[in-house]
Amino acid sequence: MCPTMSEKMLKFVEIGQQNPPKRGEFERKEDFNEIYEEFINEKAREQSSRCSQCGVPFCQVHCPLSNNIPDWLKLLAEGRKEEAYKLSQSTNNMPEVCGRICPQDRLCEGNCVIEQSGHGTVTIGSIEKFITETAWENGWVKPIKVKNEINQSIGIIGSGPAGLACGEELRKKGYQVTIYDRYDRAGGLLIYGIPNFKLEKHVVERRIKLLKEGGINFVLNFEIGKDATLKQLREKHDAILIATGVYKAREVELPGNDLSNIFPAMEFLTVSNKKGLGDKVEIFDNGTLNAEGKDVVVIGGGDTAMDCLRTSVRQNAKSVKCLYRRDKENMPGSAREVANAEEEGIEFLWLSNPKEFRGTNKVESVLADRMILAEPDESGRSRPIVKENSEFEVKADLVIKALGFDPEELPKLFDEEKLQVSKWGTIKADFETMETTVPGVFAAGDIVRGASLVVWAIKDGRDASISIHNYLMSKEKRKVA
Ligand SMILES: Cc1cc2nc3c(=O)[nH]c(=O)nc-3n(C[C@H](O)[C@H](O)[C@H](O)COP(=O)(O)OP(=O)(O)OC[C@H]3O[C@@H](n4cnc5c(N)ncnc54)[C@H](O)[C@@H]3O)c2cc1C
Ligand code: SF4
Repeated sequence: MCPTMSEKMLKFVEIGQQNPPKRGEFERKEDFNEIYEEFINEKAREQSSRCSQCGVPFCQVHCPLSNNIPDWLKLLAEGRKEEAYKLSQSTNNMPEVCGRICPQDRLCEGNCVIEQSGHGTVTIGSIEKFITETAWENGWVKPIKVKNEINQSIGIIGSGPAGLACGEELRKKGYQVTIYDRYDRAGGLLIYGIPNFKLEKHVVERRIKLLKEGGINFVLNFEIGKDATLKQLREKHDAILIATGVYKAREVELPGNDLSNIFPAMEFLTVSNKKGLGDKVEIFDNGTLNAEGKDVVVIGGGDTAMDCLRTSVRQNAKSVKCLYRRDKENMPGSAREVANAEEEGIEFLWLSNPKEFRGTNKVESVLADRMILAEPDESGRSRPIVKENSEFEVKADLVIKALGFDPEELPKLFDEEKLQVSKWGTIKADFETMETTVPGVFAAGDIVRGASLVVWAIKDGRDASISIHNYLMSKEKRKVA
């Protein structure tokens, strides 16, 4: 190993792991701002120098984007910040977003070799965020400049991370890109799902502005299936990407389901995000979908449930409880988010399953059973079964159901019966090319995978852009021949 490298890197023994400071729970409950502060320059460089520069970097292997992590850590440790940024953004369209909200404990950081040797992982996510934020501050993040415009167009349905990443990559090549979205703002779940305290909205808006400046055309408040059919869109564009995400809330059919003040998670989070963005929202302004002063019960144990719980706390709920049918060890949500929620005073009622909503007109309480965990089911997770005579009642005047999402019925919605879907309703796409069963129509993100992660949506969007490019090149050749 060269002496310069050992001087700058491999400092994991003498330098302990440090994350950027986290705001105290009392302070952060007062607002919706992000809870992690920024690394200062010296700290980011110091923390980067802890990387052991392994020959086979498992962090990179476990990053869905195969980010070249050891190399950008080394560049940063050497003070070569702009080069670190250039390398980092070459594989990721939104490194500052992933740095903030990837579940790093399950991906890059969870596989860091120095973590396995007991020294605490390199804080990859925070450093990735630092590098890109520094780039924004210094004006290194620039809009796309197209050298040769290509006279072929791509219509992208959905402006979430999959659609944005695909659009950006195709625009870089010179294609004419139009992104359609049924919402009034672009960004998908980055804007209307994920709350501010995980991802402040200016971070997303800044990206959208940049893409517009780079020549991507956004058509908002435009729903495919209502304002146009898929066929009409295909007539207008040379290729199509479907990146519509999954939005149909999973339901529990319980007695009392029709009482008022029981809402699906996405409705609650969208309203809260709209308020944060300064919109007037009648259902919030009249107090219905505002947790203030209420006893809130959230049902579910995933990341969406955590976001609803922590949003309720910030809206000044009287009490906030989480009902989850398994125990803490078997929760699907990220361990980091559960810990944040616990710090913020949320009460978890583990091994609890709702069986009835009670009240006259409005919900007043939730009746639940205690559960015990039996042998694992076919998915390998412990199966919850009801403990006899264990029912109990929890006071509630706002109930939020966060039980997961399924795809909408796209073939019907898009009026395109040739568009095949899996038994789960996700779009069937060729594993290699991401082309659907309709020629020239590709698909990416949650609508193919089912509810997943931002980083996977970006990866899919990038992969789809390559396939669309290949498809359009061969189409052009066919025309010429
Ligand atoms: C509450 C919540 C919290 C999350 N937290 C995290 C997290 O911390 N970290 C993480 O990595 N992931 C998180 N996720 C998951 C992540 O947000 C998704 O995996 C990701 O956004 C999927 O990207 P996508 O582009 O496939 O779809 P989406 O982001 O869902 O975007 C799809 C877009 O398509 C539009 N659309 C849908 N149908 C139509 C139509 N017919 N016509 C026009 N437009 C249409 C929608 O309006 C939307 O804007 C979270 C998800 C939720 C719900
Ligand atoms: S994109 Fe996500 S998984 Fe990859 S390096 Fe960044 S934080 Fe880690």
